[in-house]
Amino acid sequence: MPAKLLIAAIALFATAVQAEPPGAHTIVIAGATVVHPERTGADVLEPDTTIIIQGNRIQAVMQHTAIELTQGATVIDGRGKWVIPGLVDGHVHFFQSGNIYTRPDAADFNAVVPYAQEVARNKARLDATFKVWLASGVTGVVDIGGPFWNFEARDRAAVTAAAPRMAVAGPLISMIEDPPLDLGDPPIIRIDSIEAGLALVARELERNPDYIKVWFIYQAGDDLAKNEAIVKAVGDAAHAAAKKLAVHATELIVAKAALRAGADYLVHSVFDEPVDDEFIALARHNKVLYCPTLFVEQSYELALSNQWRATPEEARRADPQILAAMDDLNEIPADKRPKGVARLMQAAKPSVPPAIGMQNLRKLLDAGITVVMGTDAGNIGVVHGPSILREMRLMQESGLTPLDVLRSATTNGAMALGKDDDLGVIAAGRLADLVILDADPLADSGNLGRIYRVIKDGVVYDPQALMDSIQ
Ligand SMILES: [Zn+2]
Repeated sequence: MPAKLLIAAIALFATAVQAEPPGAHTIVIAGATVVHPERTGADVLEPDTTIIIQGNRIQAVMQHTAIELTQGATVIDGRGKWVIPGLVDGHVHFFQSGNIYTRPDAADFNAVVPYAQEVARNKARLDATFKVWLASGVTGVVDIGGPFWNFEARDRAAVTAAAPRMAVAGPLISMIEDPPLDLGDPPIIRIDSIEAGLALVARELERNPDYIKVWFIYQAGDDLAKNEAIVKAVGDAAHAAAKKLAVHATELIVAKAALRAGADYLVHSVFDEPVDDEFIALARHNKVLYCPTLFVEQSYELALSNQWRATPEEARRADPQILAAMDDLNEIPADKRPKGVARLMQAAKPSVPPAIGMQNLRKLLDAGITVVMGTDAGNIGVVHGPSILREMRLMQESGLTPLDVLRSATTNGAMALGKDDDLGVIAAGRLADLVILDADPLADSGNLGRIYRVIKDGVVYDPQALMDSIQ
């Protein structure tokens, strides 16, 4: 290291120590390989680098360092380790747990576990769910729709240290009713006119949502133009209040309608047909974020045919209560299984990944569309936290490089979180949300499961200690 740089580093660090506000703490990660997922050239990896964190922000990122200056600081030996920005899951739902009781509209197990009990459990279990996210290296999540108490979940995360940062949408503005999910504060509300849509948006805006979310369901015989007009009115109202419009639209014609209506965030893949030039042009025009959610296309069938098995990461880092419930089908008597589930269990054919969705993902990435990693966690078979590794594996199998995958889960995830000024890259001045890995995330996305430490808001967590603290 040239002498001049060393002096600069010392001066910077001395200033940092002097300026330390009461209670703020200094953390030094020394000699690690820093990964810059926002870059595309050879400088993505910055070896032998030291990161200095002061309070909840990154103070400096510098090549080599003067370790002798770090008295009083927490020093983490970064040699042989990789540091990435904290991961973001751009699509989760806290009102759902991932177990088989969590979507009675898909599989009605009320006779075994009443749905009200399941949702009450999920609400009471938020602190544990927050911890499994952190233990999986996820320092930010977007809850893209649920009951009005989603806003309280965001408030709780904001005052809980061991919790990811959270952006939320309120109840989904939907084309159809979903009565089995209505416990008095429904996550999905049917809207059949522009007036009703605007009234619901107004109610949600009172709670300062990060997104207005539309569940743009399309069934044969639906008046697509009428529904597009509702989505547009709702989107215009969101935009007028400086809120973003997120849309569930899984068919090509519906996704195009959503984009014409102003969607900023498509929260699923187009699964039914290959995307075309018109779709790409609309997506570019909106600068849309595109969240593929590949694994959730398989997860219901896997879980409800009793073929779901925990991955090694899930065995270590999923909520143990949920893991224990994943085998419940073995215990549930045949007469208490929903008919569809009984059929799935009998057929028990291996489920296959969504081929068209995977092809579309690659095509859209090549077209320069911003891809955001998201799991749809909480849905049946998609457990909170470690299911990110299932999703990222499928993204890699779609033809994305490990760097593409990492970027989608960090730099682009920060955009979905609405915090790309503060998160998603490792640089001086940014919030200190980082993950320290024992293996190279650019060799394989699976290495994102090899977590040594997680840092959120300047606080260091051992993932195992987080899991041990969950009852
Ligand atoms: Zn979802």
